[in-house]
Amino acid sequence: MVRVRFAPSPTGFLHIGGARTCLFNWLYARHHKGQFILRIEDTDLERSKKEYLDEILESIKWLGMDWDEIFYQSQRFDLYREYAKKLIDKGKAEQKEGAVFFKYEFQKVEIDDLIRGKIVFTELPKSEEVIIKSDGSPTYNFCCIVDDALMNINYVIRGEDHISNTPKQILMYKALGFDTPQFAHVPLILSPQGGRMSKRFGATSIGEYQEQGYLSKAMVNYLLLLGWSAGKNREIITLEEAKELFEINDVNKTGAAFSQDKLNWVNSEYLKSQSTKDLTITIEDFLMKKNLLPSSVSKDYLEKVVELFKERINTLNDFHIQAHAFLHDDYEYSEDTKPILEKNISEQIQELINRLSTITTFDKETIEKEFRATAQSLGLKAKDLVHPARVALSGKRVGPGLFETMEVLGKERVLKRLERLVDYWRRTS
Ligand code: GLU
Repeated sequence: MVRVRFAPSPTGFLHIGGARTCLFNWLYARHHKGQFILRIEDTDLERSKKEYLDEILESIKWLGMDWDEIFYQSQRFDLYREYAKKLIDKGKAEQKEGAVFFKYEFQKVEIDDLIRGKIVFTELPKSEEVIIKSDGSPTYNFCCIVDDALMNINYVIRGEDHISNTPKQILMYKALGFDTPQFAHVPLILSPQGGRMSKRFGATSIGEYQEQGYLSKAMVNYLLLLGWSAGKNREIITLEEAKELFEINDVNKTGAAFSQDKLNWVNSEYLKSQSTKDLTITIEDFLMKKNLLPSSVSKDYLEKVVELFKERINTLNDFHIQAHAFLHDDYEYSEDTKPILEKNISEQIQELINRLSTITTFDKETIEKEFRATAQSLGLKAKDLVHPARVALSGKRVGPGLFETMEVLGKERVLKRLERLVDYWRRTS
């Protein structure tokens, strides 16, 4: 049976790279009806923090993954010491100044990597390596092989940054008489420029993406695209579908570049694919959690606003920003509306107010008819009235169709807001 593991160190949050490694392991296990083990590598007691651990576990669950077993290395120190002793007894390790050193017997190490193919390691960086420090704590390579062996891990799928550890680990497996697992080293995720990921690119934790209003399904879909393809240029693929199709040897050998635009695009596709009703629930939850939804906003009304913005947003947070004036009355005119505000047409807007106030059925068709008739009677082009009206109603230069906007806002609010603009011109001129 396939047994794989994801082995995060809780010394930081879960980022794009770790999440993708976790995902590829999980998919491999689920595809082969095997088991997915979570191993918390918390041997560094100083740097490991509960808040990181909690967030890592939350992020994995949020992305839609589960695990069959979980282990904490901090609870297994006795075991590592026991195996270190075995190595000492066999003459493969020695105790010096309170620490235990593993003695590498140099030999050529070869692996058949499931992604990269044959790799031959001809050099080892050191002739010995600490496996138990003088304070009694074990080191990474050693814990890793003891655990992988005792947990019956037969496929080690991890980031390419660990490739230099692989020959060392193989020599340790051999020294203890353990079978070596198969390895699959996943290429690193690169920045959009092709270099290493930095603070600016992709260093955002999964929890932060959630905060910004990315949907978990979109996030996981995007992670899939970083190095794996479902074929036929398919880009939208769910976790369930991926489970059927995923094979580790289909993972690309070359690094995938992180792209915020692509992530936004995937997210917007998932937003659009939800029914307006479902998306309203998602948005309501998101805004409520952040305390951004005024209690005066009814579900019916929110649904209409969501319908207006559904095609225009990349994230849930975009909704909060773009639809601000639909949820709050106290909005400002944004900086870029200045050129529009500079043309004082208060008399014409006043005329628009007068004429709109006569409408009894305030729907977009009736509004449009009256609006165009007003513009014509004033000798204006419709757009000369549309732009200032949009600024008046939303504080923004761009937004959804003006007449739909008016219908959703309702007559009372529309008239008030147009008056507010007239008032603004009165005060500023
Ligand atoms: N704790 C290691 C890391 O976070 C795991 C490496 C491995 O998968 O062997 O990079």
